[in-house]
Formats: sequence, C-alpha cells, structure tokens
Amino acid sequence: MKIVMLGAPGAGKGTQADKIADQYGLPHISTGDIFRKNIKEGTELGKEAKGYMDAGKLVPDELTVRMLLDRVSQEDCSKGYILDGFPRTIPQAEALDSELKRLGENIDFAIDVEVPDQNIINRMSGRRACPKCNAIYHIEFIPPKKEGICDECGEELVIREDDKPETVKKRLEVYHEQTQPLIDFYDKKGVLHTVDGRVDAEDVFEAIRSILK
Ligand code: ADP
Ligand code: AMP
Repeated sequence: MKIVMLGAPGAGKGTQADKIADQYGLPHISTGDIFRKNIKEGTELGKEAKGYMDAGKLVPDELTVRMLLDRVSQEDCSKGYILDGFPRTIPQAEALDSELKRLGENIDFAIDVEVPDQNIINRMSGRRACPKCNAIYHIEFIPPKKEGICDECGEELVIREDDKPETVKKRLEVYHEQTQPLIDFYDKKGVLHTVDGRVDAEDVFEAIRSILK
C-alpha cells in the first residue's frame, strides 16, 4: 500500500503518518526529516538544502526527487510506504508517477489533512520535535509525558528552526502556490480522500483508518 499525505505545513501529516506506520507496519518517509538528518550530519545534501529550508522555501525538485526515489527503492519499501512532505510540486508528483509507472505500480491513497491557515501558526509555534527518533509533540495539544523530553527515546526535544512565525507565513504562501495544486492532481487520479484535520489527532486517525479499510 502506497500512501501520500497532503496538507499545509503543520496540518498534522507527520503525526498521522506515524500512526499509520505503526498500525500498518509501513515505513514513514518524511523528506523534511531526511533533509534535517543530512543537515545535522553536515553532508553535501544537507548544506545545499539548509538555505532553502531556513528561508521557508522548497528545496529544488531535482535534488529532492533524486533523494526520494533512492529512498523508496530500498528494501523496506517493497510492501509500500507513507510519503509525508513529498510530493510538494507538480513536477515532483510527475517524477514519482513516471517512476511508479515504469515499475507497474501506483499510489493507492492520497490523504489531504485539511486545516485552515489560522490554526496553523498556533500549531507550529507549539511544535516540539525529537531530533533523534523524529517523534512530534505539541506543548498544548499533544504534550510529552515529561516536559521537553521525548516519550519514545528520552532525547531532549527541539524547536524547529523553520517554525518561527515569519518563516511559517512564507511556508504557507509556498504551500498555496506550489503544493495545493496536488489536491487536484490526485483527485483526477481517483485516489484523493479528505479528512478534517482540526479535530483531535486520534479522531483524525479514526477517519483515516476508515478510508484505508
Ligand atoms: P506536518 O507534518 O503536517 O507539518 P505535524 O504532524 O508536525 O504537521 O503537526 C504540527 C503540530 O501540530 C505538531 O506540534 C503536532 O503535535 C500538532 N498536531 C498534529 N495533529 C494535531 C491535531 N489533530 N490537533 C492538534 N494538534 C495537532
Ligand atoms: P517538512 O518537515 O515536511 O515541514 O519540511 C521542511 C522543509 O524541508 C520544507 O519547508 C522544505 O524547505 C524542505 N522540503 C521537505 N520536503 C520537500 C519537498 N518534497 N520538496 C522541496 N522541499 C522540501
């Protein structure tokens, strides 16, 4: 089963992708997490991506597509995967599509998590992330058991560099301009499903589960 998570930055794609991954035993592939890991490790890819990410812009398609296609060709993806944060542009979606066509495969579900822009700024300012295992929390809505510490691995949680309100505004602009058209792209393929992302994360997951059944 291959799933694409759609939605604005902060809509809850990563939160839901983690739940789907746990329940269905599929790898959760977040291009944002892969870039952040590369930045932390100081790789060439990380150096190239950092400037774009800090500015709230998208990393160029060529680089992102190459990285993603390499990741999904790995053994753990043979039974499917959940893509979170990819594709983010029409050329990225087309590149994925043509690779899948070549393999005789396709995306089974594109799940759009809908949250209005007004709710996004609040979500992002309270987001805390684990730099080690990538678990995601919110200081108010989804707090860790112990303040500032990851429930899963005990690492100290961090505020993402690009979650500053001014960067979030830019990211939302980029989302509406470049990523939102993907809703139509996957609708035309007949695989689009929309869920209300404003409700409690467990209730969003229930809605997704009934789609995947
Ligand atoms: P995305 O992957 O779409 O950028 P995240 O999954 O990181 O979004 O969620 C953004 C923030 O909102 C995080 O702090 C997360 O804990 C919180 N969050 C996720 N889903 C919900 C929800 N349904 N209600 C309230 N907060 C949520
Ligand atoms: P995310 O963790 O999904 O919010 O992504 C964080 C940042 O990484 C984005 O704002 C982009 O700068 C970059 N990024 C992640 N995925 C992509 C993608 N598919 N295409 C281009 N840039 C991306």
